[in-house]
Parts: sequence; C-alpha cells; structure tokens
Amino acid sequence: MAIESSVFEKEVCSLMEVGKSESGGRHAAAYRQVILPAYAKINLFLDILSARDDGYHNIDGIMHAVTLCDYVSVSIGGFDGQQVFVECSDPSLPSGKGNLAYRAAELFMEQTGLTGYSVNIGIEKNIPVSAGLAGGSTDAAAVIRALGYIFDIDKNTLFKVAEKIGSDVAFCLMGGCARAEGTGNVLTPLSPMGKCFIVIGFKGKGVSTPEAYGKADGIYHPGRKEERHAELGRLSELITGSPSDYSGSLFNVFESVVLPEHDGASELKKILSECGAEAVLMSGSGPSVFGLFGNRDSAETAKRKLSGIGARTFIARPERTSLI
Ligand code: ATP
Repeated sequence: MAIESSVFEKEVCSLMEVGKSESGGRHAAAYRQVILPAYAKINLFLDILSARDDGYHNIDGIMHAVTLCDYVSVSIGGFDGQQVFVECSDPSLPSGKGNLAYRAAELFMEQTGLTGYSVNIGIEKNIPVSAGLAGGSTDAAAVIRALGYIFDIDKNTLFKVAEKIGSDVAFCLMGGCARAEGTGNVLTPLSPMGKCFIVIGFKGKGVSTPEAYGKADGIYHPGRKEERHAELGRLSELITGSPSDYSGSLFNVFESVVLPEHDGASELKKILSECGAEAVLMSGSGPSVFGLFGNRDSAETAKRKLSGIGARTFIARPERTSLI
C-alpha cells in the first residue's frame, strides 16, 4: 500500500472523503475512507505500583505522543462474508485476528452493533515492533478513530473499545501528553513537552511486554511510592520547558531489568549521552531508547552515530495534538 506522504503534511488528522455512503439509518457512514497517522509514544516516567489479580499491573507515569508514525487507512465496503481485512507493509506481522488493528475493528463493530459492512485496513509500518513505542496499540487506536469518523460514534464508546484491546490503546486514542494511572487506562491530560528533538534508537531483539512485567515483579515496592510521586509531580510541572530542567526526574522502572540483558539498548543510551542529549531514557518495556536534544545539529549527529552502529534511528518531535 503506497500512501502519498503529502496527505499527512498537516499535524492534525487527515480525512479523505472518497464518497459519501449511500446507506441511511442510525449509522449512515459520513466517509468511505479515512487515512490517519498513528503516532508512537514514549514514556517520560514509568513506575509499577502493584500487581493486580487480573494479571495486569497498576502503573503511574507520563506518556507523550511523538511524530514517528505508521499510516493507517480504513475503508468500508459491503459485507461479503469476512468482515475485516488487514494488509500490512511488514510481512512479519499477522494480517488476521493476531493484528491489533483487526481486533480493534472487530470490537468496534461488536460494541456499536454495526452489521453489513466489511472493513479494509492498510498499515504502512514505520514504528519498530516490540520496541516499547506502542506500535500495535497506536494502529489499533487509529482504526478506532477512523471508524469513529466514518460512523460518527461518540468518544465514550471509542474509549470503551480501546480499553478492551490493551492498556496503551486509550492513550494512543487520546494523543498529546497524559499522566497514565490504573493499568494505563486512567488518563489525565497534561501540558505537552516544550520544543525539542527526540532521537529514538532501536537495536537488537525486541522485548516482549508481558515478559518484562514478569521480570519487574518484585523489584518495586510501596515504600518508594512517595519519593517517586514527588518526582513525577515535578516532571509534569517542568515538562513544557527545556529537557535539561527535568532530565533528573525522568524514570523508567523497566531499565533495571531490561538494560542488563540488552547490550544494544545500553550502548545506544551511552552514545546518546556522549552526543550531548539533555535527557536519555528507555521507553516502555524497551528496548527503544530516546535522547532529548535542544537543537537539530546535535540530534542529527546522534542519529548518524546510532545508525552507524546498525540501530534503526529516527528523529521525532513531540506530537502535541490531542486527537480526540
Ligand atoms: P507497548 O509499548 O504498548 O508495550 P510495544 O511497542 O513494545 O508495545 P508492539 O510493537 O505494539 O510492542 O508489538 C507487540 C506485539 O503485538 C508483537 O508481538 C506484535 O506481533 C503484535 N502486533 C499485533 N498487531 C500489531 C501491529 N499492528 N503493529 C505492531 N505489532 C503488532
């Protein structure tokens, strides 16, 4: 699927009206096709507070959308025996139910009671997979958002669908910057990051999020909660300024379990610091790491160095738009 990048020049979502639906009724479709950027996220702060009985964990942290993105196209047609089709530019990803975008469309249809439509999804994958950047979650969120536009569905319903898919999907649906609590589904919007260049590097094998949580069990304890809480509060106040103002407050509980076993991520962190990053951290359960730079030249130098040792490297900007 080739998508013209010019379609995405605007920071806000682009809707492509290919033709009005002719079907009437409660859910008459306003658009036939919608193409959206699906932004990656980074975690500026991530702590685990407790394990839950349902197998999930209670977390506390700050997530931020960045301009690194996949492109997701969603179009609808008449029902012809299979309701959802996924075509993805990355052949290693599943095209059926295993794809989070597929599950998003299926759950959306179930939750809204829509029948009589097929949903065709195209994904142009740019975000590294199993990298701690919420690549799958953001594709799922883009599908929900696109179907929301197509069928004019209210926000609450969209968030209900998002929460059923995975803990990062609700944030990806919201975008911008937010404090994330609960399993990641309790979101409080925050003022977004100030201007900076975000160099993201990914090298070596991906990390399975459930496995990383398994390893992290036992390394967190309630005693540290207040100290962490204060740091998180400081970070949310300083985040609109220069990264050097808040670099000491960045935190990711997964660093202590993932970095010792992942030479690639540790190496990238070291290089980013040597290149003058004002702040460096691993994102999510890793192994992607990011460095925040105040100017483009040093960000470009860091990108070259990371690429030079075989890392997939991107320069992104904070994506501040609240999407919903
Ligand atoms: P998070 O930061 O939310 O924990 P991640 O960035 O570490 O996520 P993903 O890239 O979302 O990890 O991939 C996690 C798993 O989801 C992989 O096993 C992958 O095969 C599967 N997956 C399903 N659909 C997608 C998709 N559309 N894009 C990426 N991965 C997907």
